[in-house]
Amino acid sequence: MKIDVIGSGSAFSKRNNTSSIRVIDSLQNQWLIDCGPTVPRAIWQRNIGVNEIKVIYFTHIHPDHSSGLAALINQWKSFKRTEPLTIFCQAEQKQPLQALVALAVWPETQLCFEIDWQDISAAFTWQHWQIRTADTQHEMANKAIRITIGEKTLFYSGDGRPTAASQALMQGADLAFQECASFDALPEDASHGDLPDCLRLLAETAVSALGLYHCFDEAIAHLVRAVDQTEKAFISRDGLVIDLGNEDFLPGLMHDTSIIEREIF
Ligand SMILES: [Zn+2]
Repeated sequence: MKIDVIGSGSAFSKRNNTSSIRVIDSLQNQWLIDCGPTVPRAIWQRNIGVNEIKVIYFTHIHPDHSSGLAALINQWKSFKRTEPLTIFCQAEQKQPLQALVALAVWPETQLCFEIDWQDISAAFTWQHWQIRTADTQHEMANKAIRITIGEKTLFYSGDGRPTAASQALMQGADLAFQECASFDALPEDASHGDLPDCLRLLAETAVSALGLYHCFDEAIAHLVRAVDQTEKAFISRDGLVIDLGNEDFLPGLMHDTSIIEREIF
């Protein structure tokens, strides 16, 4: 399983793409998780063919996770995608996403490829992928996801503060990405993760590596310095490519402290 970090930024980041990853298996099946406003261009910059992404999974539909869908579908329409696309979303969040697809096609009403809309459930399979989902604590319902392919497991939180259910989903993952907006502790009823809570997760979940992402721009330098004191945590960054098939993937994630200098502008 390979993970391509398309974006690691918070909603209004001036330096990073909005948060999104691509998950690729050994058969070159590709999923896109979330699709905020800066994600389509990052995909085009990678020269990913219009038929390559088979599935888009939406953790939730805040605009920084969903509004790129119109532009991406429009590009696939313009360059004549033919392969069907599956979209996983929460049932109650489907209608706004369908409006984005309608915008991509307007004033026409027909796309040149099929879209198979699937509701997210607590556990399901897709081809040989085993998937489980759970709610985080966010201002909008958000489904964290755990993907197991063969021996490898990835966890991706989407937005929100960890819950007992999302923590259970993270347990023992080879790689986990947890939203961590803040360096300082946030209130227990907050809608976002923070560093102290993420360090607690690191101690309790036996993950092999924990990537913190969706960090507020002004928190990144502090977070990089803080996770530098840990062995398994890192601050995610745009353009990271992680191959879980490489047993030695962890050192490559660890800290490029030049990120701190680049971040100050
Ligand atoms: Zn959100």
